Amino acid sequence: MSVNFNDTKITFQSKSHWDLQLLKFIFSVLNRPFFVFLGTSIIKWALQFRLPIKGLIKATLFDQFCGGENIQGCKKKINQLKKFNVKTILDYSVEGQENEQSFDQTLEETLRTIQFANQHDAIPFCVIKLTGLGSKSLMTKIQLCKELSLDEQNQFNRFKDRGLEVAAEISKLNQRLLIDAEESWYQNVIDTFTYELMIKYNTERALVYNTYQFYRHDMLDRMKAGFENIIASKAYFGAKMVRGAYTEQERIRSQSLRYPDPIQPNKDYTDRDFNEGVKFIMEHLNYCSICLGTHNEASSKDLVILIQKYGYEKNDPRIFFAQLLGMSDNISFKLSEEGYNVAKYVPYGPLEQIMPYLFRRVEENTSVQGQSSRELMLIEKEIERRKLKL
Ligand SMILES: Cc1cc2nc3c(=O)[nH]c(=O)nc-3n(C[C@H](O)[C@H](O)[C@H](O)COP(=O)(O)OP(=O)(O)OC[C@H]3O[C@@H](n4cnc5c(N)ncnc54)[C@H](O)[C@@H]3O)c2cc1C
Repeated sequence: MSVNFNDTKITFQSKSHWDLQLLKFIFSVLNRPFFVFLGTSIIKWALQFRLPIKGLIKATLFDQFCGGENIQGCKKKINQLKKFNVKTILDYSVEGQENEQSFDQTLEETLRTIQFANQHDAIPFCVIKLTGLGSKSLMTKIQLCKELSLDEQNQFNRFKDRGLEVAAEISKLNQRLLIDAEESWYQNVIDTFTYELMIKYNTERALVYNTYQFYRHDMLDRMKAGFENIIASKAYFGAKMVRGAYTEQERIRSQSLRYPDPIQPNKDYTDRDFNEGVKFIMEHLNYCSICLGTHNEASSKDLVILIQKYGYEKNDPRIFFAQLLGMSDNISFKLSEEGYNVAKYVPYGPLEQIMPYLFRRVEENTSVQGQSSRELMLIEKEIERRKLKL
């Protein structure tokens, strides 16, 4: 039985008439690249000159794509989602600086999200980007097998200590941790460290999940090798499956430094490997857990079909669907209504500091083919449905 993601009554059940009008306005703007360019330029300029536009951003973009300025401020969104059985993954989306003080602050904040998750059953996972805890340039150097100075070695040890502290807290409170995937030129370091954590903490079930980006042409093999390594160590394998968010950066860097492009030749290859990867995990679910991070309707339907094919419960705790807050509610709310496990990444942080995240969402909604026009089409359909009282 297939799921119908065009059911706008379910998608927008939590939205009032005015919410829908505001959404229509936001996605109409996002649907026009010229307005987006103009709007983001004005916002950047206004923020630089401290013009009073915080309220406007907060009531529009921030409210659509973010949970709040701090953990407590996210409670309203968490409860709204919970009403419809959609869970929350609190994502501290502030891009800190490359210094020890900032890494320590991110560690403290991450520990706070874990403790908060422990008190709220609507939070099934915590999440972290490991470059919040240690330096990207140092990781890049390590991936290139360059010799480290004593100071750099100490820095790297401090990074690992922070990561271990996060994982120990996850384990102590029996929570689960998603480790985001980042750029390929330091991802090996993230993978290696994540596997250390998996082997140490995934002894009874998957608490620590690594992320696999199938826009990389080597990812399917890398994921299978990771699986073999974890299974051989008698631990459980946790996999967050995504297509990948850094195509542009990957292509620019590989061209400018003249090494082979790590990205697939086209999207069909990405889709093919993504599907293969998901199938592989579902075939080995006795040893794995999966979090499917996608806004792609076909991929979400495919996982539903695999769950049915292998006879798993819809709410099997090893299987989760995840989307970003403010995007693809038609997928999230429909799947949760059908009884599947669904969670939203809910980004939070002080408004000024979260602006880079917001600009990326705006860019993604403008550039990912059909994303905002699809959202807009659904919003207009729901407005029409309510008018006709269907
Ligand atoms: C809950 C969640 C967590 C996420 N976590 C991460 C993370 O940790 N790390 C990360 O990198 N991303 C992450 N993402 C983002 C994700 O990788 C995608 O960028 C985003 O979700 C769009 O892909 P899609 O599957 O939703 O949709 P689709 O629209 O089906 O796919 C778009 C994606 O396809 C790929 N693609 C597009 N054109 C081409 C091309 N010409 N050649 C090859 N590939 C192409 C790109 O990856 C692009 O982002 C996450 C997304 C979600 C929803």
